[in-house]
Amino acid sequence: MTEEELKTLGIKSENPGTSIGSKWFTHKETILSSSPTNGKPIASVERTSRTEYEKVIKEAEKAKLIWRDIPAPKRGEIIRQLGEKLRETKPTLGKLVSYEMGKSYQEGLGEVQEMIDICDFAVGISRQLYGNTIHSERPGHRMYDQYHPLGIVGIITAFNFPVAVWAWNSALALVCGNVVVWKPSEKTPLCALACQHILADILKSNKLPEGISSLITGDAEVGTWLSKDSRIPLVSATGSTRMGRQVATTVAERFGKTLLELGGNNAIIVTPNADLKMTIIGAVFGAVGTAGQRCTSTRRLIVHENIYDKVRKSLVEAYKQIKIGDPLDTQHHMGPLIDVDAVQIYLNALAKIKEQGGKILVEGSVLNGKGYESGCYVRPVIAEVENHFDIVQEETFAPILYLIKYAGDVNKAIDLQNDVRQGLSSAIMTTNIREAEVFLSQNGSDCGIANVNIGTSGAEIGGAFGGEKETGGGRESGSDAWKVYMRRQTNTINYTTSLPLAQGITFDL
Ligand code: NAD
Repeated sequence: MTEEELKTLGIKSENPGTSIGSKWFTHKETILSSSPTNGKPIASVERTSRTEYEKVIKEAEKAKLIWRDIPAPKRGEIIRQLGEKLRETKPTLGKLVSYEMGKSYQEGLGEVQEMIDICDFAVGISRQLYGNTIHSERPGHRMYDQYHPLGIVGIITAFNFPVAVWAWNSALALVCGNVVVWKPSEKTPLCALACQHILADILKSNKLPEGISSLITGDAEVGTWLSKDSRIPLVSATGSTRMGRQVATTVAERFGKTLLELGGNNAIIVTPNADLKMTIIGAVFGAVGTAGQRCTSTRRLIVHENIYDKVRKSLVEAYKQIKIGDPLDTQHHMGPLIDVDAVQIYLNALAKIKEQGGKILVEGSVLNGKGYESGCYVRPVIAEVENHFDIVQEETFAPILYLIKYAGDVNKAIDLQNDVRQGLSSAIMTTNIREAEVFLSQNGSDCGIANVNIGTSGAEIGGAFGGEKETGGGRESGSDAWKVYMRRQTNTINYTTSLPLAQGITFDL
């Protein structure tokens, strides 16, 4: 990616990392963002100081009073403009996502498309922030519920979706009348800078308060400022279960709300009735796409014993076709891991698979030589394991696919699938309607996402996205996920001249 291209996104070689709208603050401590594609530094970003943080929150507090008074459909208009701007910026922003994070250019473009889609969705929602009307048990009374903005929404995001997760949260939080303060991953700060520039320009040209959208940058410590801050009623946090546990307990202590989108351990069940061609494509894309660094990546394939050997053979063949290299080159299926620490986690997992009795079918290793100078490129792995192995119970954020055999009916496979601590995405490959319906029933998958004849990876913005158990229970994006960004109020109006009490209680004076 060239300096000229970066400049179009507002990124120079040295950048301030704190912004209230289009006002940027300078500070000495910096984060250097390097590309995992070639190991080269891209640009540096100044970490937010505590003093700047205080300024950000004070401005956000002022801005929220103005923003919440603007009618929701008018707030939607600002998000419409954001969607328009993102359409224009899509090729360059998609490229930056690919260059800074390491996912393929196609996936980088897809991520920006998700931002555009959520903007379109949020514009519609801005005219549909409906409550219910409820029949009162008392005569001459009217009852309804309505939704009000919360105030400041803190958004903490992970490296693997460096722009879309901000957009999922911000588009909805903003149309709901909140202002947003974003702490992106310290591994992908430039993507955040680019997004903040885009929204800040729109706010400025519409003469709106700068504090509607702010950016703070830094590591976990900066994130904890948000979770401890009782001026922030909702913290939406996307990342590892370890991080979510800390954020959840800190925010709960002050009775704040959290929206948690945490790790997954996603499985595809392959029954004897599966379409094997679809299964292989779905499983391979799910396991190696984004180098296995999606929260919805396919980690486990639970295959019926009658077709196990066939599936195993086809998978091993398919893995031979995978081309690994620069994600901006569309010939490649798989790019690098985010950094060398992630490579070490991958290597540790391979050692544990062997220690715990697993059998490696497709060997992993770190690639080196021309094109792999960053040290972040690894080979995708397939291992035969048992579901209860400790390493299988963990989410390893790398392209490692576990093959697990099951015998008996589909319930046996569902039991294995559910027997992990996480509950994000799940899928069944079957052409048998009974198997599909059992999988989707209350006795079936315990995950937030359950697909039939689609892999585990990826989701459309129209549905609510999130998962159960250690995935955190949050839902964001489509359906009625907007409700989490608002406070619900029940209103009862008495238009009579008497004061009847509920439940028939009498109280006469
Ligand atoms: P991470 O947990 O290391 O970091 C995520 C973010 O949290 C970063 O911004 C980080 O600075 C911040 N953070 C870390 N500790 C914190 C703390 N104690 N308090 C406040 N903030 C803190 O995760 P990562 O490595 O960036 O991302 C990978 C993880 O994210 C995987 O587990 C993946 O499954 C998960 N993820 C989940 C979803 C989802 O929707 N469920 C989406 C994307 C990623």
